[in-house]
Amino acid sequence: MRILPINNTINNYQSANKSKHRNTIFRAVSKESLEFVQKIPLDERLASMFQKFLQGDLILVGKNLNKAKERMLACASNLDSAVKRIFFLPDENLHGYLAFTKNREGLKEVINLNDEPIYMIDQVKHRSESLTPHDSFYLLEGDILGVQGNLIEIKEKSKVDLAGYRKNFCSAKSFENDINYEIEKMNKKTIAQLSKDVKQASSKVMFKDVGGQDELIDELKKSVIYPLRYPEVYSNFDINRGFILYGPPGTGKTHIARALANEADVNFVSLNGSEMESKWVGESEENWRNLFEEAKQKQPTILFIDEIDAIAKERSGKDVYGDKVVNQILTLMTDIDNEKESVFVIGATNNFKALDKALIRSGRFSKHLEVKMPDLDGTKHIFDIHTANKPLDRNLDKETLGKRLFDLKVSGADIKYIVNEAHSQGFERLGIYEKMENKTLTGKDIQKFWITQEDFDKAIKKFVETRNGTERKSIGFNK
Ligand code: ATP
Repeated sequence: MRILPINNTINNYQSANKSKHRNTIFRAVSKESLEFVQKIPLDERLASMFQKFLQGDLILVGKNLNKAKERMLACASNLDSAVKRIFFLPDENLHGYLAFTKNREGLKEVINLNDEPIYMIDQVKHRSESLTPHDSFYLLEGDILGVQGNLIEIKEKSKVDLAGYRKNFCSAKSFENDINYEIEKMNKKTIAQLSKDVKQASSKVMFKDVGGQDELIDELKKSVIYPLRYPEVYSNFDINRGFILYGPPGTGKTHIARALANEADVNFVSLNGSEMESKWVGESEENWRNLFEEAKQKQPTILFIDEIDAIAKERSGKDVYGDKVVNQILTLMTDIDNEKESVFVIGATNNFKALDKALIRSGRFSKHLEVKMPDLDGTKHIFDIHTANKPLDRNLDKETLGKRLFDLKVSGADIKYIVNEAHSQGFERLGIYEKMENKTLTGKDIQKFWITQEDFDKAIKKFVETRNGTERKSIGFNK
């Protein structure tokens, strides 16, 4: 959730306006169009705005923009969300001022900017409630606001199609560029606070730590990072929120998902399908609902489900427990898609064919990205990544080693294993383990230490023997 004190944003807004900041996109509303749109009832214009209402938007309503701004400042403490865009809907006939926002639960809220109470008539419960000055209240479709004689009905959809006129009947200001830096700063703090109890992405892994997957990374940037960073630019896009990363074990699916979350600087929740299968039997559907709810509340969120095939197997009708979970996930995925939440769900599997077909169809996990075994350049790149901080002998022939590893058809996890094993072989060669045991190890022993060709030869030999014994499973695979 992006949080920024409204005082900051309003002040920014004012200074941006004063200085005719280059990012200011405040549109003057011409007299003619104002006259025209004022004939359209306010609730219809509002409904039209609501159709495009995003979290971080603020709609001010009243006669005069400056007064609305002044009053909003007095009620600033009501807002805990960063205001990224302000819209102003002028209305000559309204005897008061109102502000509309979208809260973290995605509900519309009204803030009473007046010094007198306003009323909210709940049509469903047939009762009326008074809203004290400067207070806020969430709204549901059908509620009616009574503002000093004016009645405004809250509608989700406008009866008249105003989409084409929207630009003409409101003024808008985007803070996105003006205050990006502050939003980012606040976000970091807030997200860290909010996700205290959530397993967070390792702070180290970034895309530069992933080798041989440049095309895939490019795709993830376009499909996840940019939509998260620039939601407005993507407002007309049919954004894909569900992804499947598939490929052989150890190719870096989990590694890539972690790097993605770190690059996007968002909340990262990671779980393992096979662990959940047994742990959550009985209450699994509710757990899935809670999980998605939490992801929504802490959005932007990347929810990563490793070994998704363990829970999203093709429904057979025989496995009642499993079928229910698949159905539940399908519903939850459809919901986040319909509600256009900033939640991306990434499933990873070694067994793509086993996945339920409905789950991978359009609108759910509709983007399928293959994480391939590395080619020659990829293998060398991964080797460089994993040896970057290792003390390598200067005479080591990295080129030939890279080629040798490629010929062995190793995965990223295997390369990591081989490099660590070579390190360990070097410790054996110089009796470092022994010295540790005898407590005779000195700083000099470590300073003089290099991993040599011989260490790599032994490590590769051990790897090949172990792999032949364990068949196809990537032995570098570590969880
Ligand atoms: P599985 O399908 O068996 O769950 P996976 O594809 O998710 O495996 P990871 O668990 O991400 O593979 O890989 C294990 C480790 O191997 C990573 O933590 C990382 O250190 C290393 N690794 C794997 N692939 C790469 C890569 N392309 N670049 C750099 N390191 C990699």
